[in-house]
Amino acid sequence: MTPFDTFAMLDWSGAKDTGPRPCRDAIWLGVTRHGTEEPSLYLRNRAEAEAALVALIKAELAAGRRLLIGVDFPFGFPARFAQGLTGCDNPFAVWDWLETVIEDAPDGNNRFDVAAEINGRFPGVGPFWFNGLKREIEGLPRKDTRAGHGMDERRAAEARAPGAFTCWQMGGAGAVGGQMLTGLPVLNRLRRRFYGQVSVWPFEVLDKPVALVEIWPGLINAAVKRAEAQGGIRDAHQVRLLARALARVPQDRLSEMLAVDAPEEGWILGLGYEAELIAACDDPLKPPPLRNDCFALPAGVDWTPVDDALALLRDRLRPVVGQTRAPLAQALGRVLAAPITAPRANPPEANTAVDGYGFAHASLTTGDQILSLVEGRAAAGVPYPGTVPSGHAVRVLTGAALPAGVDTVILQEDVTLGEGRIAFRAGLKPGANTRRAGEDVAAGAPVLTPGRVITSADLALCAAVGLSDLPIHDQLRVAVISTGDELVEPGSPAREGQIYDANRPMLLGLMQQMGYAPLDLGRIADDRAALRAVLDRAAQNADAILTSGGASAGDEDHVSALLNEAGAMAQWRIALKPGRPLALGLWRGVPVFGLPGNPVAALVCALIFARPALRLLSGAGWSVPQGFDVPAAFAKSKKPGRREYLRARIRDGRAEVFASEGSGRISGLSWAEGLVELPDGAATLQPGDPVRYIPYASFLSA
Ligand code: AMP
Ligand code: MG
Repeated sequence: MTPFDTFAMLDWSGAKDTGPRPCRDAIWLGVTRHGTEEPSLYLRNRAEAEAALVALIKAELAAGRRLLIGVDFPFGFPARFAQGLTGCDNPFAVWDWLETVIEDAPDGNNRFDVAAEINGRFPGVGPFWFNGLKREIEGLPRKDTRAGHGMDERRAAEARAPGAFTCWQMGGAGAVGGQMLTGLPVLNRLRRRFYGQVSVWPFEVLDKPVALVEIWPGLINAAVKRAEAQGGIRDAHQVRLLARALARVPQDRLSEMLAVDAPEEGWILGLGYEAELIAACDDPLKPPPLRNDCFALPAGVDWTPVDDALALLRDRLRPVVGQTRAPLAQALGRVLAAPITAPRANPPEANTAVDGYGFAHASLTTGDQILSLVEGRAAAGVPYPGTVPSGHAVRVLTGAALPAGVDTVILQEDVTLGEGRIAFRAGLKPGANTRRAGEDVAAGAPVLTPGRVITSADLALCAAVGLSDLPIHDQLRVAVISTGDELVEPGSPAREGQIYDANRPMLLGLMQQMGYAPLDLGRIADDRAALRAVLDRAAQNADAILTSGGASAGDEDHVSALLNEAGAMAQWRIALKPGRPLALGLWRGVPVFGLPGNPVAALVCALIFARPALRLLSGAGWSVPQGFDVPAAFAKSKKPGRREYLRARIRDGRAEVFASEGSGRISGLSWAEGLVELPDGAATLQPGDPVRYIPYASFLSA
């Protein structure tokens, strides 16, 4: 047989449809067709899921594509169940039996009663347990009080799949019994409806265009967890990733996975191949690692001016994150990974901008106008079906497509309405009060460029031109670590000499505000082995690392010492106040920004250096924070040689600065709403002189 073209994975649910919002235990369908992934489809109930499967099978058959459908519940029960229920050991006899007895509707189904009925046919209490309903059901215990039903508790497959549930448990988180009872009748109907075109694995030879196979997303749990950490709904990730993985594993490996012998109980596809499937979930398209010398400074430079340091970062850093596609609802704040063009024009058709009357401008005469009205009207979404004859007008409502024969609209306030006629003054321009097709965006026109951090307005634009999902970069994961023997966690008692860790909550918050995924790796004492271990963890789980403290060259400055030892480190002595040397290096290929320990210096260095660098790593590209020249409300004289940033805010149109410049004054950070940037050279400022003010918000937006 030819290989499969399309892989569709279904995450079933036996639960009630509570709608209208996508919920965690709804049904999700993930499709990869010819290697291209579609965003997971939310199916609000079982009837909708069945219809979606029918539509999918029809579409794939019509296009001549081979389709593998994975469904996440067992296709068979433990051995001897089929015999006990139906008198023969053919699993399809069970499917047929269930189809005749299960009644299912979006607001509920009889699965618990059916389970009780089945129990009655077996010795003891019977195999099923867990009544999920309020009412008692005779024959279906709430607790597991069963004994002696004569079958195994698990199928051979479940015995090899740690964490998989038994078929006999009808309800509770993760239970599959209820899913089988509601799901197998649906599969049975598909089998019959597409008879001769569907085979069911592993009970039949897969020699038909469509294969139905049993899957279990637990096999790729590690990959699902990674995806989940980036946001989104677990089940949606499960089906998308499993479709991706099965589509990506080599053909001969898939054939091996399919070659099992389990004629009655069925089997979980991919069992024993977990590592391979998890590896296949990883997007292989990742940019190459950064070069080892990306933070090297030119030799012989003592104090590097801020602009030179920034130019180096800009030159040497590149995106380190992969790409994926996300539905619009999950794209806000994410970085666009590819150029977007409009599939459809906005507006798609010429339409009226006002409520009024439409006609052909060419049919107007000179002087005052009287036009006969045609029957009917054009409203938004409800076009006028006919053509408006010359010399006639038609009632139009805002947003309505201009009917044939109409190119100009007069505002309803400007007409006198008579019996079937309108009168208005001359002087209307051709096309007045209308919007041309594509006047906002033409079909095929560029809409957004890569690197764009997607805003709410962008979502409106994309939706308007017919886009439902966007290519985005994976979210940059940034690990945050505090270092210092003196640090304790807020909330715990502090001994003499100890201080609370203030930098970590600040930097974690900053990362979140910048749209990255912060990873809190805690506080580390000034201990090289401990720091090494946490850097290892950070490098494994994050794309960039922010540390604070220990970045100078002193005895306890272990961050710089370790980065030095790793060989890919530069101690940046930047001509900047506040800020001491910044330790920049690579730890196992992951960039580390060793920020100063002083909270004020840590924040300034994070905003001035880490911010643009992280943007480059995240795919968002370089950007300079937007500042404004405003009159100073203060006086200050400054020596040449260092750029200075003062904690500032605007009051009455003037920039005031915090009374103390001490770099331990956290209250000043909180008081301020931005920074005043004083140039590298000497300056003597008087109140009223212009100074550059950069609001904090400028650092957080594009
Ligand atoms: P260091 O850069 O490690 O020499 O630290 C410089 C100063 O910043 C010292 O006074 C530290 O106690 C202080 N410091 C370091 N880390 C933090 C932190 N996470 N929160 C508050 N203060 C800190
Ligand atoms: Mg320290």
